[in-house]
Amino acid sequence: MKGLIILAIIYFVYRHLKEKMLDSIQPSEGSRSEGPESTDDVMIQDPECGVYFPLRDGVPGRIQGKTINFCSIQCRDAYMKKH
Ligand SMILES: [Zn+2]
Repeated sequence: MKGLIILAIIYFVYRHLKEKMLDSIQPSEGSRSEGPESTDDVMIQDPECGVYFPLRDGVPGRIQGKTINFCSIQCRDAYMKKH
């Protein structure tokens, strides 16, 4: 009989902890999907032609120690010639 009570207590503690863990996971998941700063959707401006494009489609170029993203290789080359 004692063993059953202990088992029941362990079960309830386990359930309580599981619920608490789920509660702490859910809000972080919500804020992750709502976050506007996900790298896939970031729009940046091409410094050469002024066009806005998604960062994931950008062509990275290294200019004066900085990495700058361009809309195309042509823009990157034109910008690199000037700088
Ligand atoms: Zn461009």
